[in-house]
Amino acid sequence: MSMLLEVRNVTKRFGGVVANDSISFQVKAGEIAGLIGPNGSGKTTVFGCITGAHPIDGGEIYFEGAPISRLRVGPIARAGLMRTYQQTRIYGEMTCMENMQISSRDAHGSVFALLRMRARGVETRANELLAFVGLHEKRLHKAGRLSFGQQKLLEFAMALMSEPKLLLLDEPTAGINPTLINGLIDRLKRANEELGVTLLVIEHNMRVIMNLAQHITCLAHGKVLASGTPDEVRNDPRVLDAYLGAQ
Ligand code: ADP
Ligand code: MG
Repeated sequence: MSMLLEVRNVTKRFGGVVANDSISFQVKAGEIAGLIGPNGSGKTTVFGCITGAHPIDGGEIYFEGAPISRLRVGPIARAGLMRTYQQTRIYGEMTCMENMQISSRDAHGSVFALLRMRARGVETRANELLAFVGLHEKRLHKAGRLSFGQQKLLEFAMALMSEPKLLLLDEPTAGINPTLINGLIDRLKRANEELGVTLLVIEHNMRVIMNLAQHITCLAHGKVLASGTPDEVRNDPRVLDAYLGAQ
């Protein structure tokens, strides 16, 4: 498998806080990769660096072999690299369908997503994706009236709408009713297998990520602490210490 994403020695500071301290890891085309680590270890910041939301202070990021570290959010999204957010914000008065347009623009600053909405066949695709995430029956509801978990599913469908090559998901199971988590994991796996989307998933729940990812990178204090297969990472004493220390 070739490398779809390569993060090489990336450093990001916020004032005196070194949120990412020379972080390196790779995501192979076709895989589901995991990014774990205690709260505040720098996971969400890495997503901001990769997607162009934060200018980085050091290092390089490559997507499909091309440097993207100096590109802005729009061009990176258009190249096929999308993300979802830890806290989804969907505002009241719009239906699901309308909201896809608003939030795509919101999240990625790109006119491209809006243009796609006007392309032929896009309505069919929107309906298919709403069915895929289990929201088809709610398609005429106002997005702001959906439960938090349903809004996260909608955000997932919105991201899939642009047919990303790589989708970064920031804690997709956070705030989701535990009885619905297995269904969500199943959908993430199907997006990977059936739609061919490579996934990089930030996840706080160890059980979830062990069951989902083929390769996991663990951060602590802004640095890569360990990386490897789920078994290697789960049994790494440094990872156990980092999690226990954070409780
Ligand atoms: P995680 O997602 O692993 O919980 P974050 O990447 O959100 O961690 O945060 C890493 C560190 O960077 C924390 O100390 C956090 O307070 C700090 N941080 C994150 N974003 C910002 C920001 N926009 N401004 C200032 N500090 C930030
Ligand atoms: Mg976070």
